[in-house]
Amino acid sequence: MQSNVLVINCGSSSIKFALIDADAGVEWVSGLAERLGQPEALLTWKIDGAKESEAIVNADHRGAMQAIIARLQDVVLHRYGETLTARLAGIGHRVVHGGESFTASTLINQDVLAEIKRVSHLAPLHNPANVLGIETAQALFPQLPQVAVFDTAFHQTMPRQAFLYAVPYTYYTELGVRRYGFHGTSHRYVTRRAAELLERPYEELALISAHLGNGCSAAAVLNGKSVDTTMGLTPLEGLVMGTRSGDVDPSLHEFLAGQLGVGLGEVTQILNKKSGLLGLSDLNNDMRSLETAAAQGHEQAQLAIDVFCYRLAKYLAALAVPLGRLDAIIFTGGIGENSASVRARTLAQLAILGVRTDESRNQNHGRLSNGRITQDSSTVALVVPTNEEAMIAADTITLVR
Ligand code: AMP
Repeated sequence: MQSNVLVINCGSSSIKFALIDADAGVEWVSGLAERLGQPEALLTWKIDGAKESEAIVNADHRGAMQAIIARLQDVVLHRYGETLTARLAGIGHRVVHGGESFTASTLINQDVLAEIKRVSHLAPLHNPANVLGIETAQALFPQLPQVAVFDTAFHQTMPRQAFLYAVPYTYYTELGVRRYGFHGTSHRYVTRRAAELLERPYEELALISAHLGNGCSAAAVLNGKSVDTTMGLTPLEGLVMGTRSGDVDPSLHEFLAGQLGVGLGEVTQILNKKSGLLGLSDLNNDMRSLETAAAQGHEQAQLAIDVFCYRLAKYLAALAVPLGRLDAIIFTGGIGENSASVRARTLAQLAILGVRTDESRNQNHGRLSNGRITQDSSTVALVVPTNEEAMIAADTITLVR
């Protein structure tokens, strides 16, 4: 049976895609269609490491998807002498919000699609784009099975004491107000991978994983189940991120609205788009650039990094509470995988958890030490590169079979 899976991650103005041989674990095509709906819309893709691009002027999601499929048809025809449809086992879609309805990845049928639409009010920026991706793929490949992989699903094992806000209970029962958590596919992938690196059964481990990219969240995973995480009803809660504030006093909304003379919607926009590393540094949202600026003496860049690392350390310690013991802390995402200095700065504040960084292992991003960046006698910290696409492909092939 075929083992190729097309993975689609449809955002509000972009589509990420990958063609993955799920059995071999090989991603042989990956790409991005971005700036959709604009004259500058662009499709870029990589085949076996070689980069190519094509202008897709003013393409919307459907147009971009058609362009992506056309390129993939060429690639597959060239490689196998067969059509894309003949070589695909199924299509896996990243879906941001599954509400409380989806506790795992699922094959998409009309009921599933209707339910994804029903919970779209919980992620109004993301789910409608995901739905568009699914419907376009269904129209282009009516004969292929499609699978939805939810960012929220992995965290559905959180107990009530972890997911409830202390607000009137009926807001939970009637409006769905609760903490859902996100980045579940990444947290699931890296914690599983950590079990392999530690050579211990996944179901017996107490792990904390920190996904640090442009969006950031941490999760406590006990015996293979997420028991708490830092993001909440929306991805705004918790850690400091590229442009998101993470936790603030809930009264800040009213205070800023009054002081700035703007509406609540605009305050939410400020907290999502103009805060975090960008807001604190007054420079940009990119950790690598901030590290360079800080090294050159830019004080606000350094301050932004300090706040980022302190908040992170504080949350990692807090996530040890539901675990009761700790087998490893995992760093992943663009920052977690690449910034030795963020990791060192964060772990230096976690002596209370018995963590002692090994400088040389950390500088090497754990590549020469099975992911480990700590000393042998220390509580373990690991760098584990994430791969959400591989996880989506693996779920898709499992469900299709
Ligand atoms: P992601 O969203 O996972 O692609 O991560 C993006 C973040 O990773 C940005 O803040 C980048 O600056 C950061 N990043 C990527 N490479 C490095 C690096 N070598 N050093 C520090 N930060 C990095």
